[in-house]
Amino acid sequence: MLILVLNAGSSSLKYQLIDVETAEVKANGLCERIGIDGVMKHEIAENRKLTIDHPMPTHKEAIEFMLNILTQNDTKVIENIDEISAIGHRVVHGGEYFKESTIIDKNVIQKIERLIPLAPLHNPAHLLGIKICQELMPEKPNVAVFDTAFHQTMPEENYLYAVPHEDYTEHKLRKYGFHGTSHYYVSNEAIKMLQKEQSKVIVCHLGNGSSICAVKDGKSIDTTMGLTPLEGLMMGTRSGDIDAGVIPYLLEKKDMDANQIIDYLNKKSGILGVSGISSDLREVIKAAKDGDQRANICIEMMCNRIRKYICSYAGVLGGVDAICFTAGIGENADIIREKVCSGLEFIGVEIDKNKNKIREKTNREINKTDSKTKIFVIPTNEEFVIAQDTYKLVKA
Ligand code: AMP
Repeated sequence: MLILVLNAGSSSLKYQLIDVETAEVKANGLCERIGIDGVMKHEIAENRKLTIDHPMPTHKEAIEFMLNILTQNDTKVIENIDEISAIGHRVVHGGEYFKESTIIDKNVIQKIERLIPLAPLHNPAHLLGIKICQELMPEKPNVAVFDTAFHQTMPEENYLYAVPHEDYTEHKLRKYGFHGTSHYYVSNEAIKMLQKEQSKVIVCHLGNGSSICAVKDGKSIDTTMGLTPLEGLMMGTRSGDIDAGVIPYLLEKKDMDANQIIDYLNKKSGILGVSGISSDLREVIKAAKDGDQRANICIEMMCNRIRKYICSYAGVLGGVDAICFTAGIGENADIIREKVCSGLEFIGVEIDKNKNKIREKTNREINKTDSKTKIFVIPTNEEFVIAQDTYKLVKA
């Protein structure tokens, strides 16, 4: 069964065509600069990569173009779109409505619309993707898979903010958490590797956006992102945790308004803001090796915060069986993994520096043989979870 997985952003569209029974990715790609000029980067299964400039004034042209690429000429991987059984959509915010993935109908669309104030950049783009698929492929079922759903198992004491309670009841002000599909996939893989029914796992999803999740017996019980994906770790361009008192201070000192402060904390802070070099950690690591002082501080700050959350979640879980690293930084940056783990011996974490340096695209264990806590590197696969959930719902 072939599932088309879509992640529609405000000016981009990521897609994968997956044979869910064999886990084969038939093709994948990314349309960028939708509404500006349009560039598609497309990869066909056997690693044939191509970049195509094609006008994409709206998401509709982008989706039409992608369907053409999948079905026509020498890029074709299927004869026609009837071979696609269903479409799985990544949806960032499911609020308290969605505790799991769901087949999309009018009622689901209304709820995703109602959640726009909580995800103003993401949910409108996802809705656009869903509506265009319904128009272009009217016979095909569409499924929504939410970034927030996995965290709906968090207990009240972990998701409430310490503010007047009526703001939760009236305005749904609470921690939701994000990267749920990744945290679910990685923790599930870790539980298989641990071969333990009852497990305490900490997942560090470290990419351009980063979050950590405490997973007990397969369920999320706490996570670092909050009402929005700004809370928690220091990220590519996001500040992460910050004293709320910073906001009025900046309002006065820099004569900013609320939107400018949100922009400052989301787009100008984090690795970019502290290093003054780039939001791309590779460049910052290179500068640090060349002796750049700010780059060095930036890396220390980032690792220190990750370490603090790992310890805090070991406390929340009452111990830890495995710490998992995933996403761009977690999977590739051995220097960050080593720094984060050093000093955590007191909670049984002993990294094997040689195993840590091995570069592979597979699940692997990088702790010393006698380490009480396992350390895993697990490449995330959010698209596969979306395809699997879509398959299960459509089959049922
Ligand atoms: P993601 O958002 O998961 O695609 O991750 C993007 C982040 O991963 C960027 O900050 C990259 O600099 C970082 N990254 C990717 N490869 C490496 C690497 N080999 N070493 C350090 N950082 C990396």
